[in-house]
Amino acid sequence: MIEKYDTGKIEKESAKLILDDDVTKKSGIYPYILTRDEKYLSIRGFSDAMKQKVYEKQKGNCVVCKKHFEISEMEADHITPWHKGGKTTEENCQMLCKDDNRRKSGR
Ligand SMILES: [Zn+2]
Repeated sequence: MIEKYDTGKIEKESAKLILDDDVTKKSGIYPYILTRDEKYLSIRGFSDAMKQKVYEKQKGNCVVCKKHFEISEMEADHITPWHKGGKTTEENCQMLCKDDNRRKSGR
């Protein structure tokens, strides 16, 4: 896909990303803007404390298949994806079993 890049827009977006606490790799901002591949930004993951709290809130059940799992068998997921404005916070965290998380992210 060939696009014309508007430098003003790029500057504005990169300034915003620099201030985003969830972007842990600031050197990845330009590659991200050019490719839209979030792997360049190393979006911050959920902390163990956040995962534990959400796990307890869900009573250990996966939100997709509703089955019970040990916390070690689950993975934290952004309810609203980061690129849609979702933050890496407890409120935006859900715990999925590994199978459902893999299905969701299409890995
Ligand atoms: Zn599940």
